Amino acid sequence: MYRIGVIGGGAAGMMAAVTAAEHGAQVTILEHTDRLGRKILSTGNGKCNYTNLHISKDDYFGNHPSFVTDALSVFGPQDMISYFKDHGILTQEKRDGYCYPYAGQASTIRDFFIRRLEELSVAVLLQTKVNKIRVLPDGFALQTAEKEYFFDRLIIACGGKAAPVTGSDGSIFLLLKLLGIKLQKMYPTLAPLYVSDEECKLLAGVRANGSVTLKIDGEPLCQDEGEIQFNKETISGIPVFQLTHDAVAALDEEKKVTIWVDFLPKMEHDETKCYIEKQIEERTGISTGQLLAGMVHQKVTVAILHRLKLPGSGAAGTLSSKQIKKIVSLLHHFVFTVSRQPDFANAQATRGGVCVDQLDQNMMVKKIPGLYIAGEMMDVDGKCGGYNLQWAWTSGRIAGMCAAAGENNA
Ligand SMILES: Cc1cc2nc3c(=O)[nH]c(=O)nc-3n(C[C@H](O)[C@H](O)[C@H](O)COP(=O)(O)OP(=O)(O)OC[C@H]3O[C@@H](n4cnc5c(N)ncnc54)[C@H](O)[C@@H]3O)c2cc1C
Repeated sequence: MYRIGVIGGGAAGMMAAVTAAEHGAQVTILEHTDRLGRKILSTGNGKCNYTNLHISKDDYFGNHPSFVTDALSVFGPQDMISYFKDHGILTQEKRDGYCYPYAGQASTIRDFFIRRLEELSVAVLLQTKVNKIRVLPDGFALQTAEKEYFFDRLIIACGGKAAPVTGSDGSIFLLLKLLGIKLQKMYPTLAPLYVSDEECKLLAGVRANGSVTLKIDGEPLCQDEGEIQFNKETISGIPVFQLTHDAVAALDEEKKVTIWVDFLPKMEHDETKCYIEKQIEERTGISTGQLLAGMVHQKVTVAILHRLKLPGSGAAGTLSSKQIKKIVSLLHHFVFTVSRQPDFANAQATRGGVCVDQLDQNMMVKKIPGLYIAGEMMDVDGKCGGYNLQWAWTSGRIAGMCAAAGENNA
């Protein structure tokens, strides 16, 4: 029976620990905070969007898409749904493939893992920080403030750098570098984007349905649609999150990054123009400020008029055709300039991390037999929609299974 150490007690670490124990290993989790699975509780707005039925390589970024798809074919969304079902957790599907625990509470998932760890007699060491990892001829020594622990196999699942308040503070990466493990530069992703435009302040608090297009140096790169949220300095919401992976790299290269918002994506420009002209014609006496009242949020009108330097109190009937054209243009193409990198503190995931070309299909570091990596700390990041947790389950499951079996180990 192998003694397996798992550093990090988040989604991937708990999955790896449970799996290794199910396969007969003697497992210990070393977690540096005072509790397990804290981040899981904040996922999916407290409901835990734990996987997605529609999953493909296009839902993940990173330099080696086949690494991800190969792993998902070993343990994918249906396997996770079945695993939970076998252990008493039913699933509800929402929004075309997004899966949540049927109870609607993220704590269902976190508590399940804690219970399962107990059932399998996994030792859990909380508030235990590993200061040094030594690779021995026949295993690993982990130095903590109190004592040194010895294991035959080691799984590291410490997350990336996103939401460090949940424990993933990036401290592990220093130890990985000392082991000679290559890291891809890390950026926050699935995060609100900072914009410099004054109109963002005017839009604060608005949740508007629309589409967003990311343009890099004026060239459209990617697009998404859904509920866009405005805060004083940021634009966020799922469609904006989906663009962050590409935005952060471009910002790093000092390229001009803009977000083009279409507040009326279901209408053609000409249709919008005709509709507005008809409104002006038929609703005699309405002001410019009232003109768009039934089409978009009042604050969107204010922002458009601000950008055009038009008073809202003026009669809409006095608008020139050029001004009407500009209003239509802003309804469909309101441009915001992204001013700086997002913060890890507000990000849901990390772009970059452990380069996966150093790992085999068992999640084992090729040059350090017996050492496995799992979860967000790898250079694999998914879109919003359950893909990141699925990666934690998939990589954790494979790492746990293979570490317990000793596959591919020296
Ligand atoms: C607000 C929010 C909402 C999200 N919603 C979703 C969602 O709905 N669906 C989805 O798929 N994904 C979601 N994600 C992303 C998803 O939660 C993560 O990708 C996933 O939890 C990563 O799992 P992990 O185990 O790799 O890392 P983590 O969950 O970050 O766990 C890492 C663990 O390692 C511990 N640790 C770190 N360093 C050390 C160290 N040096 N020593 C010991 N322990 C250490 C940490 O304390 C932590 O317990 C969300 C993220 C956030 C922040």
